Order: sequence, then C-alpha cells, then structure tokens
Amino acid sequence: MLEITVGVKESMETPGSQTSLHRANLERVVRAVRMAGSLTQAEIARATGLSAATVSNIVRELKDGGTVEVTPTSAGGRRARSVSLSGDAGIVIGVDFGHTHLRVAVGNLAHQVLAEEAEPLDVDASAAEGFDRAEQLVNRLIEATGIGRDKVIGVGLGVPGPIDVASGTLGSTSILPGWSGINPAEELSARLGVPVHVDNDANLGALGELVWGSGRGVKDLAYIKVASGVGAGLVIDGRVYRGPGGTAGEIGHITLDESGPVCRCGNRGCLETFTAARYVLPLLQPSHGPDLTMERVVQLAREGDPGCRRVIADVGRHIGSGVANLCNLLNPSRVVLGGDLAEAGELVLAPIRDSVGRYAIPSAARRLSVVQGALGGRAEVLGALALVLSEMGDSTLLNGAEGAYQAAAPASVPAFT
Ligand SMILES: [Zn+2]
Repeated sequence: MLEITVGVKESMETPGSQTSLHRANLERVVRAVRMAGSLTQAEIARATGLSAATVSNIVRELKDGGTVEVTPTSAGGRRARSVSLSGDAGIVIGVDFGHTHLRVAVGNLAHQVLAEEAEPLDVDASAAEGFDRAEQLVNRLIEATGIGRDKVIGVGLGVPGPIDVASGTLGSTSILPGWSGINPAEELSARLGVPVHVDNDANLGALGELVWGSGRGVKDLAYIKVASGVGAGLVIDGRVYRGPGGTAGEIGHITLDESGPVCRCGNRGCLETFTAARYVLPLLQPSHGPDLTMERVVQLAREGDPGCRRVIADVGRHIGSGVANLCNLLNPSRVVLGGDLAEAGELVLAPIRDSVGRYAIPSAARRLSVVQGALGGRAEVLGALALVLSEMGDSTLLNGAEGAYQAAAPASVPAFT
C-alpha cells in the first residue's frame, strides 16, 4: 500500500517525466474509447490529438495488457482496426425509475447491452417498494448474463426529479413526495454493495442520446423531455452541465405568459403550463373523452385527427420558444426531443423549428438541428450506463495491469506528440 502511494507521489512530482506523460497518453486513449464505444485508430488520433504512431504504440500496449480489444473493420471502404474496451473487463448497470416503470440494463465496457428488462411500477407510491423491486431485477439480470458480481464496476441510477447536489436527496418534495428525505444513491448502494451514481431523467436522457443515439458525434446538445413536466439535459463540450445546485436545464419554468395559468412552481404561464400532459389533455377531453393519454393523442395525431394535430402543433410552437431561449444562451448544435411526445415526429418537430426560426438569433438557429430521439423509452437507462462509464475513471482499468504498463513505458514513449 505504502509503495503504491510513493509511486503515485513521485509521478505527480515529475509531471514532465516520460512515465507520467506516457500514463497521461494511456488515459487519454482509454477515455476516448470508453465514451465512444469503439473507434478506429485514426479516430482516436483525432479525438486525443496524439500522433498516429503514438496511438498505434499505445493501442498495442493496451491490447497486450488486456484493456482493449482490436477487431478488423472498414472505414470509408478502407481497412481499419476498431478499438474498444475489453468486453470482459467489467460490467456496468443502469437503473431507471420513471413515474410508472422500472427499467434495468446490464452492459459491458464495449457498450454492448447484455440484458435489459422493464416492468410497470408506481414509483411515486413507495420508495421502499421501488428499491426492493430494483434490487431484485438487478440481481436477476446479473445472474442471467452469467458474469460474476465481482465484475460490477458501478450502477447508474435515474430518478424522475431534480437531485440536490449537496445532500444527494431529491430536491423537490412536490415531485416525488414518497421519496422525501431519501438519498437514492446511498440506499441502492447499501443494497447492492457497489458504487451508485445518481442523476435525473433529463440528464440521463441527454447522456443516453449523446453516447448511443441521436446525439452521437456532437459535443453540445440539449435533450428535451416532455412528460409529466418539461426538463432539459444539457451537454456542453461533451459533458453534462448540472450547475452547482444540480438544477440546470429546468426549462419547464421559463415564463411564456405572465398572465397565463398558475404553475405548480407558483409562477404563472411557465412553458410547462402550455406543454405538459396535465395542461394539454384537458384541451382535448371535452371532444375526445376523459380517458385520453398523451400516448393516445400522439397516435390519433399520426392517424390524422385534426384536433390532436392542432394541439400537438401548438405544444411544439411553445417548446420552440423555450428552445429558442436555450439556443440564444448556449448555442447547442443539436436539440434532441425525447419522451412520449417525440413519437409525433415531424408533427411536433416542424413547429419547434418554426418557433426557433422566429425567436432565436439567426446565426445560432442556423447551426441547430432539431431531431427526434433515437432511443425512445430506453434513453434514460442507457444514459445510466453511460453515467457509470463517464464517472468510473481510468485507473480501475489501467491499475489492473499497472506493472505491465510501467515496464513498457520507457520503450514506447515518443518525446512529444
Ligand atoms: Zn413553473
């Protein structure tokens, strides 16, 4: 133990040494591959800024150490080598609590989903029951993969409400009253015996689409989720932006009309009061019956129902006003729409684009694409897997073969790249 501490200290004291430079390069390559799933060596060179020769040496070394796997592929018709983390280096688990469901996925470090299952659950009713069911489902799916529990690196946990960064508890008692005072990450970690990282559904949806879906290849995006509320997950320069209190992205409470309906937050005319299901459904219930759900409205609109089409277009225009504000403030290159409403496709996307064109600064609007999420209801659970991948750090992977990497270091380090 003491020896390891001394070793780390020495390398920290000599940041310019070949060993520490080499270690930094190893970590850059592993991080790029960890978040991308798989990359060709040319893509690794672009992502890390390292030279092709250095990447080639490092990939060979990581392959010999068992950290990465290299498989032949073709990129643009040319033969290439695809590099991904070793599938058997560890597994990550995603747990997503929605208001009405529980979804769990087990994935490996090569971004393959090995097992996934969803079941209906009234999450708001009882936190204890929610955790019981999550624990059971996680254990069952790990068993189904046949991989040992000692391979679990961590769990990503999604909850349908804002998490208070300081306390780790749910930041709003009005959203999930049955969960008041509970620290979801601590609770699940105590049950499963592994580290748990927690985030809200909009942030995980953003991460999911960024790593696995419609956000692949961009570094700045906003994921807008319209469900019982309206939230946005913001990705800035490749990372989720949460703000010091964890409340970044609450676009549902942008004021659109100061004399509009009273919102649950206490203000009037928030974006949410024009777009969330509980405000939108009453518009259609007199003509379409009392049992209407948002899912049904979307289905009817797709079948051509004029009232449902009109309401969805209006919702789209209002969301577009919020997106225009976001666009002026953050200048994202992509907005990804998630939640039930996204299934309406162009019926809602076109009005969003109209509003953005009308209200956003033209130069910001020109660079923005507004698209439908590719992952549907899986965005959050896949985002939970991505959360573990982004939080795990590279020392877990590199320290396992510390001796090999240190021994190999001097031979393959070019002075600067
Ligand atoms: Zn509000």
